[in-house]
Amino acid sequence: MNFTRFELAGKPLASLSIGCMRYPSREAAAEVIAACAEQEVLYLDTSPMYCYRSEEENTETWTGAAIAGYRDKMIVSAKCATGNGGNQVGEYDPARGFSITTADQVRRQIDQSLRRLQVDRFDCYQLWAAHVPELFDEALKPGGWLEGVMKAKDEGLFDHLGVTGHADSAEIKRWVDSGWVEMITVPFHIMDTSRLEGMRYARDHGVAVVAMNPLAGGFLGSASEGLAREMADAGVTSAADLALRYVASIEGVSALSGMTSAAEARANCDTLSRPLWSEEQAEALRLRFEAMIQGAEYVCTGCRYCLPCAEELDIPGILRLRNYNVVLQLESAQREFRHKYRHDEHFRADKCTECGLCEGRCPNQLPVSRLMAEVMATMGETV
Ligand code: SF4
Ligand code: SF4
Repeated sequence: MNFTRFELAGKPLASLSIGCMRYPSREAAAEVIAACAEQEVLYLDTSPMYCYRSEEENTETWTGAAIAGYRDKMIVSAKCATGNGGNQVGEYDPARGFSITTADQVRRQIDQSLRRLQVDRFDCYQLWAAHVPELFDEALKPGGWLEGVMKAKDEGLFDHLGVTGHADSAEIKRWVDSGWVEMITVPFHIMDTSRLEGMRYARDHGVAVVAMNPLAGGFLGSASEGLAREMADAGVTSAADLALRYVASIEGVSALSGMTSAAEARANCDTLSRPLWSEEQAEALRLRFEAMIQGAEYVCTGCRYCLPCAEELDIPGILRLRNYNVVLQLESAQREFRHKYRHDEHFRADKCTECGLCEGRCPNQLPVSRLMAEVMATMGETV
């Protein structure tokens, strides 16, 4: 296993971290965590809401049961949010850990997570889902989230304090400059590097960085003949291999993967035990990846000038999936298209009437109606 430069609670933070949000069952949680622990992958990211079915059946209780017997080996993290999971403060929702705004509410939240996880202390506690500045500011109010959390930290209930959320680089820097943030968790993957500046700022100020969504929400978690062929010289074997090693090659960054089975955990452990790249090599591979996508025939750049479509189709959304399918032969792109086709009217590419309105507006002169037919023929045939 590769490791970051950081330690949490005196234990090394591996290049892979365990996201506890996608377990299909209590048994799967135990298998994933055991497989990871064998490889010194120790950091567990939990929340009151993940896999929530009841007070007894949720990620926290499953994780607590899984680590019974070796809790001290692991790095246990819990969290709650000032917001409602979106961008608003919302209604107090303690069962799922949302809209926790007062010091008393936070304390009850901490006690709930300690109980569910069956531990007497965490290693880390985090402000969860601080997507916009208002939610971070909410935490700082007198008598609010931070006050309650600081008191619990003084009582020895955890060692490290962190923040998670989909904030931009400027906001990440503000978190770091607040002085109390010791770790951050933000979205980052090879298809979205927009937060890299903020992540580097955090790392360079001694703040541990955990990257959520390293496989772009599972999109890159599959084989890709195109990538393996194109990047054989760099030892890339699949889309998942490139995506995970790209993230972990950014110094100080651990890739937080929401694993669902022991097999997936072992595959990720194997991948992140392989040599990483320098940041320069990783950037060169990212540029090659981007060039592959852009180099395909009829690449949609997502500029949206073609909209609105006469049939209200999401033309850039459909053509984005076509890009990935054509260039990378990603089975996940076909799967996502089929899923969207079934559940979203705007992805019914066969509704295109060939009216040509969009084609007159497209700066790349894409034959959109022809591409809609091609998408249905190549990606929608099993719909
Ligand atoms: S040609 Fe098809 S995709 Fe383009 S505007 Fe007309 S219906 Fe929409
Ligand atoms: S205008 Fe052309 S390139 Fe831009 S989003 Fe629409 S189809 Fe894609």
